[in-house]
Amino acid sequence: MTHSNRQAARSVVRVAREGRSALDRALDDLREVETLVGFLALLRDPAAKRPWREVVLDAFQRAELDDEARAELADRTEDAPGEHRDAARPDVLDALSGVLWRAQDLAAYVLRAVYHPALPEAGPAADPRPYLRAAREHLPTAVTGWTNGKDFAYFAADRAAAMLDDLEAALALNVDGHTVKAVCPWCRGGLAGSYSWRVRALPGSTTDLSLVVIVCESGVCNPPTKDVTTWWKGVPAWPFRDWPWLARRLARLDARRAALAPPPPVFPAVQGSTGRAGTASTPDAEAALLDGVPLTTDRTTDPEGTAA
Ligand SMILES: [Zn+2]
Repeated sequence: MTHSNRQAARSVVRVAREGRSALDRALDDLREVETLVGFLALLRDPAAKRPWREVVLDAFQRAELDDEARAELADRTEDAPGEHRDAARPDVLDALSGVLWRAQDLAAYVLRAVYHPALPEAGPAADPRPYLRAAREHLPTAVTGWTNGKDFAYFAADRAAAMLDDLEAALALNVDGHTVKAVCPWCRGGLAGSYSWRVRALPGSTTDLSLVVIVCESGVCNPPTKDVTTWWKGVPAWPFRDWPWLARRLARLDARRAALAPPPPVFPAVQGSTGRAGTASTPDAEAALLDGVPLTTDRTTDPEGTAA
C-alpha cells in the first residue's frame, strides 16, 4: 500500500509512553486490547457502519493508485476478489486472526513460565479474550519470578503494543497525524498549497482532551496574534476547545475571500469547443441557452411525450 500513512511523524504520545516500565505498558495494552477486540468483531458484518479516517492523496499517490486499478481491471474475472459481496469483511477477519494468534502465543509463553497448565488450542475464529486475560493475570509473576524477567517484560510489551496498533488502525482510532481537509486561511497551505493542518495528540492528551490540537505544519505559517491561541514547537496550534471558533473563523474568512473574488463566468466552456453547448450555471442562463424550449419535468402535460 503506497497511500497509507505509515511514514508519518511518530506520535508524541508514544514517545511519552516510553518513560514507563515495560510491564506496566504490557498490562495496560493487554487490558485495552481486551476491550477493543469486541468492537472490531462487530465490524465483521459488512452492513455495520465502519469508522474511517480521512485519507488525502497527492497527485503522485493518486496516479499510482489509478495505475494499480487499471492493471487490476485488466485482470478481472468473474471469480476475482471483490466481484461478489462477501459475507464478512476480509480485512477485519485478518486483523482479528492477527490478534488471536498473538494472544495465544503470548499466553502460552506466560503460562509456561509460571508452570500453569496451558489453555486449550482454539479454532481460527475463536475469542482471543480468555488468552489475553490469562496472559495479563500471570504476567507479573512470570516477570518477577525469573532472572531474565526484564527481557520477558519487553517481549510481552512488544506483543501487546503490536496487537493494540492493529486494533487502533482497524477501528480508525489514531487521531494523531490526521489531515484536516481545509486550506489554512493564513498561509494558504504553504509553498505547495496543500492541506497543512494536522491533528496532533500532545503528551498528556489521554487524560486532558484540550491537549489534542490542530497544528499548521506548512512551515511558513504566521497568523496574526488574535487568530492563534497557542504555539507548539514553533508552529501555530489550536487546542480542542477552540475548534468551533476555528471553524467559524475559517468559514468567515472563506466567505470574505469569495465575496472579493470576481464572479465566475456564466459559460465556463466555449460554445462548441467540446461538442456541448457550454454549461449554464444560473436559471436565467439556462433559459437563454435552451432558447424557448419549455422547461417542464411533468410528463403528463406533454402531449407529444418528447420532453426529457
Ligand atoms: Zn497555516
